[in-house]
Amino acid sequence: MNFFKTAKPFVIAGPCSAETREQVMETAAALSTMQVQLFRAGVWKPRTRPGSFEGNGEQALGWLQEAKQQYKIPVAIEVAEPAHIELALRYGIDVLWVGARTTVNPFQVQHLADALKGIDIPVMVKNPVNTDVDLWHGAIERFEKAGVTNVAAIHRGFSGYSAAAGYRNQPNWPIPIELKRRKPELAMICDPSHITGNRDRIAEVSQKAMDMHFDGLMIETHPHPEEAWSDAAQQVTPNRLKEILAGLIVREEYTQDMSGQMQLEYLRQLMDSLDSEIIDLIAKRMELSEQMALVKKASNLTAYQPGRWREIVETRGERAEAHMLSKEFIVELYEKIHHESIRKQLLVLESLEKEIKK
Ligand code: PEP
Ligand code: MN
Repeated sequence: MNFFKTAKPFVIAGPCSAETREQVMETAAALSTMQVQLFRAGVWKPRTRPGSFEGNGEQALGWLQEAKQQYKIPVAIEVAEPAHIELALRYGIDVLWVGARTTVNPFQVQHLADALKGIDIPVMVKNPVNTDVDLWHGAIERFEKAGVTNVAAIHRGFSGYSAAAGYRNQPNWPIPIELKRRKPELAMICDPSHITGNRDRIAEVSQKAMDMHFDGLMIETHPHPEEAWSDAAQQVTPNRLKEILAGLIVREEYTQDMSGQMQLEYLRQLMDSLDSEIIDLIAKRMELSEQMALVKKASNLTAYQPGRWREIVETRGERAEAHMLSKEFIVELYEKIHHESIRKQLLVLESLEKEIKK
């Protein structure tokens, strides 16, 4: 069985950084009495600006080794260079993770994968900072190709220019869901700490991850979060972690309860038939659009007409709101439909053009 599926949820907790021996031991002592499968702590920290605390390096590996022995809890660190892997193995680290700023770089990921050839230690791969599912998928494949059999993906959100919707890193849920569609067996872990950047929202995002069929959670935990040397705003105390875990509702994909399963099947059949109608209607809409292309060509009109697009945004947006649907959602959907419609119109205009030239 995949190491990261041995508990549901599989919980990874511990401080952002291993700051002092006392802090590591105190956190590990508290977590070892809870439903926590793995202790995390950063010993080399990739900081955005120079001059911030960059981790205690090899010295901190010694503290983690001591915590592991004393509290019988496996330990994980972030590695960004082959030299980090070599030291981690020397100090008996059980699990490695690759940070978001490393996953973006295929050269570096390959160096790490090469350093792991013949060493089957579990590896967790954080999503790259940019919204690129292929890059994330590719990094995971590099470790699998190197022979790592226990791989997990960690969803930690994606950077943007501003902290839109109050997140430090945008969750963009369709990206981890797409990765899971491509690799159904992959263990998917959510890191609500780096997504929210805010300890008050950890519970809410953790529950959302459970509702999205995630396998586990990585939650930054510190005995005195406000005094943390890195990521102070997002860490929780071990006691708060205990409350968050106790409040989680863990849901399943399937149920043994036949009446629940049958109701779901019935609703799914209704939904299947609605989806067929939606697709048939879109096909009809595209046919109309092709007819319009002929008229536009004959009257020497552009395929894209800004005034018409403004009208679509306005009227479809209003109709969405009348149905209590989000205007942004419907406008985004229409952006896709309209774009496809224009693409088809351009094809029509172009092929007529060629005929005339012939
Ligand atoms: C971390 O887990 O502390 C960390 C640096 O994460 P990320 O790579 O997601 O920024
Ligand atoms: Mn952190």
